[in-house]
Amino acid sequence: MGIVDLIYKAAEAKKNAYVPYSNFYVGASVLTEDGSVYTGCNIENASFGATNCAERTAIFKAISEGHRKIRMICVVGNETDSFTYPCGICRQVIAEFADKDTRVIIAQNEHNYIVKKIEDLLPAAFTKSDL
Ligand SMILES: [Zn+2]
Repeated sequence: MGIVDLIYKAAEAKKNAYVPYSNFYVGASVLTEDGSVYTGCNIENASFGATNCAERTAIFKAISEGHRKIRMICVVGNETDSFTYPCGICRQVIAEFADKDTRVIIAQNEHNYIVKKIEDLLPAAFTKSDL
């Protein structure tokens, strides 16, 4: 499962986004340490604070199935004008299950994407090593 495959999976999951308020569709895919793939979409709520992002939906699906390590996570939001980066809450959740080799793929499509490490996106993160 390579980067482009993960981008396709995230783009497919994006179609399931529940976004009646923002109409801003986002999809994500997670590759776990053993090669399993989980996908997610953003899920909005009339009580806006109850909204869940695509990245966390995908990560929580993986964790709830017993996985603990993310090898790669891919997010596909805006497909043309700009890149949709993970929000602050999602960066913190990614950091919980990432290590220095984990790659975060921010993609418009299979041709335009950015590869980052979580330490690029969330420097000096508060992690389990701080406890
Ligand atoms: Zn988020």
